[in-house]
Amino acid sequence: MTVGPGALADPAVGAAIGELRHKLVELHRSLVDNGLVAWTSGNISARVPGADLLVIKPSGVGYDDLTPESMVVCDLAGARVDGYLTPSSDTASHAYIYRHMPDVGGVVHTHSRYATAWAARGEPIPCVLTAMADEFGGEIPLGPFAPIGGDEIGRAVVDTLTGHRSPAVLLRSHGVFTIGRTARDAVKAAVMCEDVAATVHLAASRGELTPLAQDQIDALHHRYTTEYGQP
Ligand SMILES: [Zn+2]
Repeated sequence: MTVGPGALADPAVGAAIGELRHKLVELHRSLVDNGLVAWTSGNISARVPGADLLVIKPSGVGYDDLTPESMVVCDLAGARVDGYLTPSSDTASHAYIYRHMPDVGGVVHTHSRYATAWAARGEPIPCVLTAMADEFGGEIPLGPFAPIGGDEIGRAVVDTLTGHRSPAVLLRSHGVFTIGRTARDAVKAAVMCEDVAATVHLAASRGELTPLAQDQIDALHHRYTTEYGQP
């Protein structure tokens, strides 16, 4: 496997980057379609298979203006190696996640409304729904506050999600990060996180919540991850 910026000369890596540039435009559109982002907030990245590179949204560009060419290719230190725009201000954190979580192929960040309301209150979302046990394997955890711009957010995501079944983390006073084997999986986690955040918020507004028992959560998560869907 070719790694680092030199990998750009590898035709297979070039083809993979070309595919990811298109895929990321489509996935960013789905953040808008699912009501997860406002104005230019939020971003998605994908790891480039076979290279120590990632592709990410450019900084401060509106969702309607995103094109395959506008996506930025960076190395796993967060430095731009291809593309003409400045990458997302969260790039160093995305890169930190890829460096420390080798199975992660996609990362999504949003300030989606209900999930971010939980982050604003500094509360994890308790596991009170079968859909949460299925998708997150328990509560959606709360990570610490971290400053924007460096890799501290990435460190907070890795520290909170390592050893946790949840692909989503709420960052205190900020928003949501999700991870997945692919960027699409991370988008799915972001959509599901906002969906359950809204439902559990509504339930909490009417009184005490009843968490699922750990054995119920384990059984639901096992079924969902091994039996659900088409063979
Ligand atoms: Zn943010």
